Parts: sequence; structure tokens; C-alpha cells
Amino acid sequence: MAQIRFRDPAGSVRTGELSDGEITAAGRTYDRDAVDVLPPVEPTKIVCVGRNYAKHADERGADVPDRPLLFLKPPNAVAGPGDEIVLPEGKERVDHEAELAVVIGKQARNVDAADVDEYIAGYTCFNDLSNRDDQDQEKNWVRGKAFDNSAPIGPAIAPPEALPDDASIELRVNGETKQSSTIEHLIFSIPELIEEITTYLTLEPGDLIATGTPEGVGPLSDGDEIEIEIEGVGTLEHTVVRE
Ligand code: MG
Repeated sequence: MAQIRFRDPAGSVRTGELSDGEITAAGRTYDRDAVDVLPPVEPTKIVCVGRNYAKHADERGADVPDRPLLFLKPPNAVAGPGDEIVLPEGKERVDHEAELAVVIGKQARNVDAADVDEYIAGYTCFNDLSNRDDQDQEKNWVRGKAFDNSAPIGPAIAPPEALPDDASIELRVNGETKQSSTIEHLIFSIPELIEEITTYLTLEPGDLIATGTPEGVGPLSDGDEIEIEIEGVGTLEHTVVRE
């Protein structure tokens, strides 16, 4: 059962179970559309993986890396389902990047690829919003990738067993499909990523690993409505506006 965070009509933040558009929490049932759905986790950090699909590396004119290309998004980047995201002011090109995100369930350090299952709480949808104006002229991508609300996540945490090995990942802008692939095309697998990342840093419960985007990234415009749908995981919806 998928786990969802929300603010109930009285204003309390709760965690519940989502099923068929209904949320069950502490013995009560809520209509999902009648509550404010929040980001499913409050990560201390988001570890993102760049160029982890060959066709996306290609469309960016870049080679596939020989080890995972890692960068960070800090907690200020988190946004939730249904949010209206204000894009950074004065930038020509801010792109969508649909990604599968791994939700960490247990503190992880020096984890062997064979043992990752016990550290994975589940999966959620992720949009790695990317300010290309600045990304293309900086090395550490702080302006390009870490700006406020640059990481919409949700809508819920799907349990690990809900994700098929060949799960489809699709992104639509105003109903038109822009990205469509499957996670079979990941260059570095989820176990390989967790082993590599935890060699260097400790992942805490609620931290996320954004596993990279398939081809089809593209610019967003004022008022665009975005949907990211991952098979077995759910659909994350949000809008964007220009400042
Ligand atoms: Mg990305």
C-alpha cells in the first residue's frame, strides 16, 4: 500500500495509506481530493544521477559517464504534488526531467549492492527541474539544479514490490507526451547507485536518489501542467508559472 503525507482539514500533518483515491490514517478515511497532499518525505538531501539513460546523454550532446555522475539537491528544492512552481526569474530555458526516485528507509552507509533491499522504503515520482541557462555555464550546478522548488516529488511512496522491473516512465506537458521510456534503460542500476553513493556519504531515512531522466527533456512555459506517471508508482502532477 502506498504511503502518503497530507494536511487534514483541521490543519494537522498526517501520514496515511492511499488506495483508490482514499486515504486511511489513524482509523479515519479522507478523500484524497479533499486534503492538501504534501511531499511524501522531508529529505535531508536528494542525490541526483546525471546522464543515466544513453539517449538523454546523447540529446544533451554528452557522453555516458564511466561511473555515476552525482550531484545534490538540498531540502529547499522539495515541492509537493499539486504545487504551482515559480520558475527562476529571467531564465530562458528551464526543462522538465521525469525521474524515478528511490526513497531510503533506513540509515545507509557502505551498503553492498547485494544488500540494498533492506534500505529501500519504496519509490516515488520526481521532476528534476533544470535551469539550463546557468547549468550550461557552471560545473557544480547550484544555480542550475538546486534552486527553490526544483524537485517536485510524489504523490506517495509506493512499496518496492509495486515497481515492475520494466516499469514505464512517462511525462506529459498539457496532456502531450514528451518523455516515454522504461527503467530497463537505466545505465547504472539502483543497487549499483546505492553502493556507489553510500561509499562516500550516509543516506538517512527519507533521503532520495533521483535515478536520472530518459530522453525527451524540454523547456517549460508559463502555465504548463505537468504529469509524471511511473508504472506501479503513481502520477505526480504540478504546474509551473513564470515569475
Ligand atoms: Mg536529471
